[in-house]
Amino acid sequence: MRDFTAELEQRKQAGLYRTRRHISGPQQPVLTADGQWLLSFCSNDYLGLANHSSNIEALRDALPKTGLGGAASHLVCGHHEAHHLLEERLAAFTGRSSALFFSTGYMANLGVISALVGRGDTVFSDRLNHASIIDGCILSRAKVRRYGHGDVGSLAAMLAETSGHKLVVTDGVFSMDGDVAPLRELAAVCREHGALLVVDDAHGFGVLGPRGQGSVAELGLSEEDVPVLIGTLGKAAGTSGAFVAGPEVLMDYLVQKARTYIYTTAMPPALAFATLNSIDLIERGSERRSHLQSLIDRFRQDAIALGYSLMPSRTPIQPIMVGDNWAALALSQALEERGLLVTAIRPPTVPAGEARLRVTFSAAHSHEDLDILMQGLADCRHLLVGEGVAV
Ligand SMILES: *Cc1c(COP(=O)(O)O)cnc(C)c1O
Repeated sequence: MRDFTAELEQRKQAGLYRTRRHISGPQQPVLTADGQWLLSFCSNDYLGLANHSSNIEALRDALPKTGLGGAASHLVCGHHEAHHLLEERLAAFTGRSSALFFSTGYMANLGVISALVGRGDTVFSDRLNHASIIDGCILSRAKVRRYGHGDVGSLAAMLAETSGHKLVVTDGVFSMDGDVAPLRELAAVCREHGALLVVDDAHGFGVLGPRGQGSVAELGLSEEDVPVLIGTLGKAAGTSGAFVAGPEVLMDYLVQKARTYIYTTAMPPALAFATLNSIDLIERGSERRSHLQSLIDRFRQDAIALGYSLMPSRTPIQPIMVGDNWAALALSQALEERGLLVTAIRPPTVPAGEARLRVTFSAAHSHEDLDILMQGLADCRHLLVGEGVAV
C-alpha cells in the first residue's frame, strides 16, 4: 500500500507541508488567528465587504422570507427568485445578455470548460491559470495545450496549426502574480482563429474597470470579444458563489450541460439577496477603489525602496518574490512574530523556485496598517540577503 505517512514527511522536509490556522471572528484586517491578533495582508476581501454591515443586514432581512437551505438543485426545485434576480443584476452589471449563478468559482470553471469542450476539441490555457481552470481542462477530456504566460504570439501560432473546435481560457487578473492578461490581444486572436474565449475575472471583478465591472470592462471589451465571462463573489463582493455571463444561447447550453451547475444543491437564496446588496456597494464603491489604489501605489514605492523584488502588478495582489521555499517561510514567520500575517506561497501553487510572499490589500486597510507592514518589512529585510533579491 502507498505510504501516506512517508509522503507527508517528505513534504515537511521540502518545506512544502501546509497547515491551517483557526480564525475566529469576522474577516477583516485585524484577524484573530489561533487566538492571537494579527494584522492580515492575505485575504481576497479587496473592498472590505466581507464584514460590511449592510451586507450582513441584507442577509438577516432575507432569512425570514427565504428560509435558510437551498434544499434542491436548480433544475429540480431549488431555483429561487433570489437567484434569478441576482443573475439579472450580474448580467446588467457586466454588460452581458444573461448570467448563470454557480456555487463557487471552482465549480464554475469545472462546469463551464467541461461543458463547452470535449473529446476531439482543443483547449488552450495560460501557463499560470488558476488550479480550477487546469482541473476544468482535465475534466473536459479535450486536448490541452498550455501557452506561455501572456504569450499571445505563441498562442496564435498554436491556434493556426489546430483545426476543430477551439477554446481559449485565461485568468483576467492572475491570482499569484497580480498581473492582468492581454485581453484585447487575446480577443483579437480568438476572433481571427475562430476560438471561443473564456475569461475568469475572479480578482478583477469589483476592483478594476468602471464601477468595478472588472478587467474586461476596463478595456471596453464586449460580449462578442469575450463571449464567456466568469466572476467570483467570495472575493471583492465579500459573499460567496460565482457567475458566468454571456449570450443567452451559451447560458442555456450551460444549464443543459454544466454538471457542476446541474448536480449540486442551490446556494441559500438569502445569500443571493446579500450579494445583490453587495453589487450595489461595488457599483458605488469608487472611493473604496481609489483608497485601495493609493495603498497599492505606496506599497510598491516603499517596498522597492527597501530592495524587495516585486512583480509587475497594479492590482491588490502584490507578491514579494523570494525563490526558495524555506526563505519564503522564514520571512513569513518573522513578520508573524511582529504581528503581521502574510502567507508564503509555495509550489505547486507557483512554479518550483518561485516561492513568494503574497501580499494582498483591501480597502479596509488604513495607511496606518500599511505603515506597520512597511516597518515589519524593513525589520526583516536582512533575512533575504543572499536570496538573489536586489539589495
Ligand atoms: C479564487 C479563484 C477561483 C475560485 O473561486 P471560488 O469561488 O473561491 O471557488 C477561480 N478562479 C480564480 C482565478 C480564482 O482566483
